[in-house]
Amino acid sequence: MLRETLRKYWGFESFLPLQREAIESVLAGRDSLVVLPTGGGKSLCYQAPAVVMPGTAVVVSPLISLMKDQVDALRECGVAAARSDSSLSPRHQDEVVGQLRRGELKLLYVSPERLLSERFAPVLRRAEVSFIAVDEVHCVSTWGHDFRPEYRRLGALKDLFPDVALHAYTATATREVQDDIMETLRLESPELLVGSFDRPNLIYRARRRENEVEQAISVIKRHPGRSGIIYRIRRKDVDEMAVALQALGFSARPYHAGMDPDERKRNQDDFSRGEVDIIVATVAFGMGIDKPDVRYVLHAGMPKTLEHYQQQSGRAGRDGLEAECWIFYAGEDYETWKFLLSSDDPEVERIQSRKLGDMYGFCCDAACRHRALVEYFDQEYEKNDCGACDFCLGEVHCLEDALETAQKILSCVARLDQRYGASYTANVLTGSGAERIVQNRHDELSTWGLLSEHPLPQVRTWIEQLVAQRCLRRTKKHRVLKLTRRGADVLRGRRRPRLSRPSGDGVTVSRVEEEDWTGVDAELFEHLRALRKELAERRGVPAFAIFGDATLRAICRHRPRTPEEFRWVHGVGVKKCHRYAGPFINAIHAFEKGLE
Ligand code: ADP
Ligand code: ZN
Repeated sequence: MLRETLRKYWGFESFLPLQREAIESVLAGRDSLVVLPTGGGKSLCYQAPAVVMPGTAVVVSPLISLMKDQVDALRECGVAAARSDSSLSPRHQDEVVGQLRRGELKLLYVSPERLLSERFAPVLRRAEVSFIAVDEVHCVSTWGHDFRPEYRRLGALKDLFPDVALHAYTATATREVQDDIMETLRLESPELLVGSFDRPNLIYRARRRENEVEQAISVIKRHPGRSGIIYRIRRKDVDEMAVALQALGFSARPYHAGMDPDERKRNQDDFSRGEVDIIVATVAFGMGIDKPDVRYVLHAGMPKTLEHYQQQSGRAGRDGLEAECWIFYAGEDYETWKFLLSSDDPEVERIQSRKLGDMYGFCCDAACRHRALVEYFDQEYEKNDCGACDFCLGEVHCLEDALETAQKILSCVARLDQRYGASYTANVLTGSGAERIVQNRHDELSTWGLLSEHPLPQVRTWIEQLVAQRCLRRTKKHRVLKLTRRGADVLRGRRRPRLSRPSGDGVTVSRVEEEDWTGVDAELFEHLRALRKELAERRGVPAFAIFGDATLRAICRHRPRTPEEFRWVHGVGVKKCHRYAGPFINAIHAFEKGLE
């Protein structure tokens, strides 16, 4: 029955990890808390049981744009869904209430305010509610990263709807947040399902920032015409990057809290609809974006914690297809955040500082990045080679003479009396004849030119790696390098630091990318993408509500010739087959004809 539903409405053959378990607890009427990573398929966990159970499932969601997209996508699949929130006209609201009373809806999306409102709650109580699902449930927790006071009030649900099971979903929840959610919502002996935090389709890479615009362009150029997000720390940096990209002819727009709200909203909408390729944003951007086909997330500035990084980079590749996550970091980012860290509570400050150090370590360290992320979230990582990070792809490798190289760097810092910054030190090490160095007679030091066989940026990177491993630190005021106790241990050969360098300039193609494109003619894909866009515009829905990229690629792979064949493509349900088989089969035919 369930499988049939999956096939009929969504055109899926099987479940993603934990989906089946999550669906079964809904069907069994047992409260649940489900933590699955972005792209893990949380929505299906409540949508599929909503379709098979009698009555209407109520879904609580924090943002109108999210609800709208989900309702559009469900209707495209042929599922009766509606939403009720403050943006609808009274007439429209009445219509929804009518549909609800008549039992015509399988799913009703509501904002938390509305669900708890004095007018609406009684209406719902009289209707047949199959269950209540709370999406983005981490918003109830003050411990989480996106607390919303109106979500906290959802604690009242158990009083208002004592006989209705409650199911909660989120992508990010530490143990503390999970406990807080279960307590706040008063879940009754809930089923707790926590999936792996790993996102195998994301390819992680980190490099030291040199020229952020050039570095960004090198990534953008690998994804022409695709959607990407570029994060920067400050508003000013966002504006500058957006202007620089626009001047070079890229389709990019800024997004930050200091902008005119209308313009900001327009930029977000245009990005969601695929009218604009690139959004350059501060961390303010992202909530309310469930665009599935973001092909890269690029940090041209380091976030302050790995929690933030996981969340922001996680906006890439929700559709399960390959996507790239780059960090272009700099010691400066670390300093910026360190400077902003302040709390009246020394314990809080200590935790923040540790998290910042972990984030910087992640950037600088030469180790598998999938493993580093998963282990950071207290889960085990089983693979030895993720096949999807710069380290495992062999784009960087560990220096065999790391100890010796580190000692050269550290002794240079000592010879400079620990009074100079990273750039100056690197210049001395590479044997620069710059005026300032000669004037200071640092070209006479024994450490001058000790690393002259290496390019300057490389030596700068090693210095950052030593900072990240706490062998060196910077002073707050003048950003001067100082040796730490660990650094002294390295100098004495008692501790081995880890240093790495890129194996070449290029970027290798990962297994993930290869698999996702196997058997897909890129030109045909572009044709079908254009057709999808046209159809989406005509119907006034987002393109992904018609077909996701995974389905589009599957269509390219199988090149169906009849509606029956079309129906068997992954992601094509009954309704969509009926509606779209014709145009897509014709487009494939025309494309093949054109080739002849
Ligand atoms: P989340 O809300 O957890 O980030 P979504 O519900 O948006 O994830 O689903 C992510 C993607 O996975 C969507 O493109 C969806 O169509 C796809 N998906 C969900 N369930 C399945 C399944 N069982 N088989 C194949 N694809 C699926
Ligand atoms: Zn790896």
